[in-house]
Amino acid sequence: MRADRHTDKAGLRKGRRIGVMGGTFDPIHLGHLVCAETARDVFGLDRVLFMVAGNPALKDTGKVSEGQYRFDMTQLAVASNPDFRASRIELDRAGPTYTVDTLRELKASMGADTELYFITGADAVFEILSWKESAALTGLATFIAATRPGYDIQAALALHEGAELSFDLRFLEVPALAVSSTDLRGRLAAGQSVRYLVPPEVEAYIHAHGLYGTGERYDEATPARSEPEPEGALASLDVLTSEIVARLKQRLNEYGYRHSLGCAETCGALARLYGVDVREAQLAGLLHDWDRCVPWPELLDKARELGLEVTPEVLAAPPILHAQTGAADVARIFPQVPRAVITAILHHTVGAPDMADLDKVLYIADMIEPTRTNPHIAPLREMVGTVSLDTLFTQAYQCSMLHLVRHRKVMHPDTTRVWNALMLKNAGGGKPQEDEGE
Ligand code: NAP
Repeated sequence: MRADRHTDKAGLRKGRRIGVMGGTFDPIHLGHLVCAETARDVFGLDRVLFMVAGNPALKDTGKVSEGQYRFDMTQLAVASNPDFRASRIELDRAGPTYTVDTLRELKASMGADTELYFITGADAVFEILSWKESAALTGLATFIAATRPGYDIQAALALHEGAELSFDLRFLEVPALAVSSTDLRGRLAAGQSVRYLVPPEVEAYIHAHGLYGTGERYDEATPARSEPEPEGALASLDVLTSEIVARLKQRLNEYGYRHSLGCAETCGALARLYGVDVREAQLAGLLHDWDRCVPWPELLDKARELGLEVTPEVLAAPPILHAQTGAADVARIFPQVPRAVITAILHHTVGAPDMADLDKVLYIADMIEPTRTNPHIAPLREMVGTVSLDTLFTQAYQCSMLHLVRHRKVMHPDTTRVWNALMLKNAGGGKPQEDEGE
C-alpha cells in the first residue's frame, strides 16, 4: 500500500518521516537516486538524507575513496532535489560506522515523533540487523532493503531466519539498481564512459579529481609493477633523507609511498646518466608528491594559508595545486632542501617554459618510475640513455598533452607556453616525435 506524504497508512499523520539512505556512495549513481526517490514516494517520506558512510564497519577501508570525495559527489548529485540532503554525520564521527549510532543520533536530534526509514542494499541490511546491538535497532527505524532485479528475497530470508519477524523490514525492488558502484569504478578505470549512469556533475567531478584511475599521471588504482625499497638507490641515506622517508611513510598512502620511492630511484638513475646532481634529483623524487595526499577542500585552504593565488585555470585542472602547495610547504618544513629541488617540485605537473635539467629529470621520472604501468610510457623507457635529456623530456611532455586531449581534460594555459618553448628550441634541429600509435 502506498502512503501519501502527509498521512500514514491509517490516514493519520503521526510525525515526520525521514528516509536515511545509507551507503558508501563510491561513487553515487543514478540507481541510488532512483532508489531514494522510489522510497520517498512509496513510504511517504518528507525528506531523504544521504548518509555517506565514514569508515564502514566490516569494510576494507583501504579500498574506499576518501570520505570528502564521496561526500562532495553525493552533495552534487542531490543538489537539484529539495527533498534530498547529503549528511556527513557518519564522516565526522570517529571510528567504524555503526548504523545503530547514526539512528540514535538522528532520533535524539529530530525528536521522538520522527519516524526513520533506513534504506540500503538488501545484503547490507541483513548485515546490519545481525551486527552491533541489533536488538536496539528494532524500535529505531523501519528498514528498507533495496534489491536489484533478480535478487532472490526468499533465499535471503531463509538465510537470515527470523529477521523479517524481529524487525520492521520491507523490500523495495529498484530496476535502476542494475547500475552498481563497483561496475562504474571498473568502467572508469578502463577509460569507458559513465555518461547517463551518474549525474553529469558527478562525472565532471570524477574526471577533475582523477578518481578511480581516471588520472594517468598518478593512478592509485594501478597495481605496482615492482616495489622499490629505500635500500636501493637511496642506500646511503643521510640524516635529512632518512627523516623525509620516515615522514613520507606516515603521510602518504601505500601506493603514494612506493611511487615516491620509485620516483627517487629513477630520478637518481636519470641524474647519473644526464649529468645532473644525483642527491638533488633523489630529494626531488622523494618530495614531489608531498601534498598529493591532501584532500581537495583542505588543499584549497592550505593554498590560501600559504598565500598562493588559486586561479580559475588551477581550479579547472586540480592536480596542479598539490605541486604549488607542496613546493611551498617543503620549503617551509625542510629549509635545508636546496632551492633547485623546490623549483623542480613546483614544475613537476605543468612544467615551465625555461626548465632546469633537474626539473626535466623529475618530470620524466614521475612518468616512468617502476610502479607506472601505462603502456604509453614503454617507448619513453626505451629512449632513456639513447637520446638527449631534452628529446626525452619533449617526448614525455607530448605523452602528457596527448593524454589530456584523449581524456578531454582541461589543459592549463601554461602547457602551450611550455610546448611552444620546446618547439622553438628544437626548431631546425629536431625531427617530429612519433605519436602514441593512436
Ligand atoms: P555498500 O558497499 O555501499 O553497499 C552494499 C551493497 O548495497 C552494494 O551492492 C550497493 O550498491 C548497495 N547499496 C549501498 N547503498 C545503497 C542504497 N542506499 N540503496 C540501494 N542500494 C545500496 O554498503 P556497505 O558499506 O555495506 O554499507 C551500506 C550501509 O549499511 C551504510 O550506511 C553502512 O554504514 C551500513 N552498514 C552498517 C553496519 C553496521 O552498523 N554494523 C554494517 C555494514 C553496513 P552500490 O555498490 O552500487 O552502491
